[in-house]
Amino acid sequence: MAAFEGPPVSLHPLIGHDGVRKALRVAHARGELPGSLLLHGPRGVGKQRLALWLAQLVVCDAPGPDGPCQRCGPCRMALALEHPDIHWYFPLERPKGASGEKLADKLEEARHRELAEVRAQPKRPSFSDQIRALYLGSVANIRSKAAKRPSMADGPIFIVGQAELLVPQEASQEAANALLKLLEEPPGDARFILTSSEPGMLLSTIRSRTVPLHVPPLPVPLVETFLEEGLGVASDTAGWAATLSQGSPGRAMAFLPDGDDLGPLESLRRQAFHTVVAALADDAAAGFEIAVGFPPAGARKLIDLFTFVEEWLRDLAAAAAGADVVVFNQDALARLKKHVDRASIDPARVPMAFLAVERARELARGNVNPQLVMSGLIRDLRAALRPASTGASGSASQPAVEGVRG
Ligand SMILES: [Zn+2]
Repeated sequence: MAAFEGPPVSLHPLIGHDGVRKALRVAHARGELPGSLLLHGPRGVGKQRLALWLAQLVVCDAPGPDGPCQRCGPCRMALALEHPDIHWYFPLERPKGASGEKLADKLEEARHRELAEVRAQPKRPSFSDQIRALYLGSVANIRSKAAKRPSMADGPIFIVGQAELLVPQEASQEAANALLKLLEEPPGDARFILTSSEPGMLLSTIRSRTVPLHVPPLPVPLVETFLEEGLGVASDTAGWAATLSQGSPGRAMAFLPDGDDLGPLESLRRQAFHTVVAALADDAAAGFEIAVGFPPAGARKLIDLFTFVEEWLRDLAAAAAGADVVVFNQDALARLKKHVDRASIDPARVPMAFLAVERARELARGNVNPQLVMSGLIRDLRAALRPASTGASGSASQPAVEGVRG
């Protein structure tokens, strides 16, 4: 599979973002690179890859007009994810049965395992369906590394990916506050590059101590070229995944099949489609079958699914209104139109369906049993989209969850 030439490389090539790269290169050449940066932009657009590129630029012995030279010792180490002063942190699953210092050690072990996986398989999609966060233990690890002397570079460089997950699920702000202290008084010449697709969820004090830089979506044709030429994906598959990518190569990669398995996002997209179709079906039992197919715990994992449900609802409204060109899931246009006709969808009712998704999202955040959340969602979608078919129950506007609990 590996089609790269030259020294061993553990990172897929960085594509696009020419404007952002130029701004960073010029600032670095002038010695004006901010000590703490926040790269923000859509999920999967390449923010952490860009942060690694910037770290490589900082350690490079001979940066040129295109950025790091790619050939010097520090560049090779950075590209192999083996530079001793570049520390890449990202959200992890909480290790079981550990707290305090032991938690910090376990998190560091988990991070090294993950880095080893990236080295072994740089092209794997980075979307994960696990519940992950940046725990206080990881910030403690950053702090102890920041206090040590750098091995080669002028100072350590810390990349903190998905920094919005610094506030762990227990709503404790400990991890975020601990990082804030480091940003306020960075030890020595430490640099911080934070990335976030939801900068609004960061503590405002963290936002105010970092210089924001927006990383925009890439043009879809560039994503397609990256898939074909960078990853060796067949041209029709590359075109299909690029169309669904919204300009994010990471998102496109997560649609690609993984051996015989569907890509993680493609599997979510299909699950979301079946959810909407079940709500449109004549037989209400279809919805319950789908709902009981979900595990009885882990409702927060549903939140990504709901984003796809909203996309399908949006497409349903577009198809019902005859606005085929704005349908996002173009590969399903014919099937959408069939469902629109069969269920006599009125586009004016779709906003009601969005409210149903919003209600389900709130329940999922509250960690209600996913089967109950899903059966409630499908029932509410049905009431919104097919008011005439909800029958005699009369209570369809109530979230079904409450009824099931009683
Ligand atoms: Zn170099």
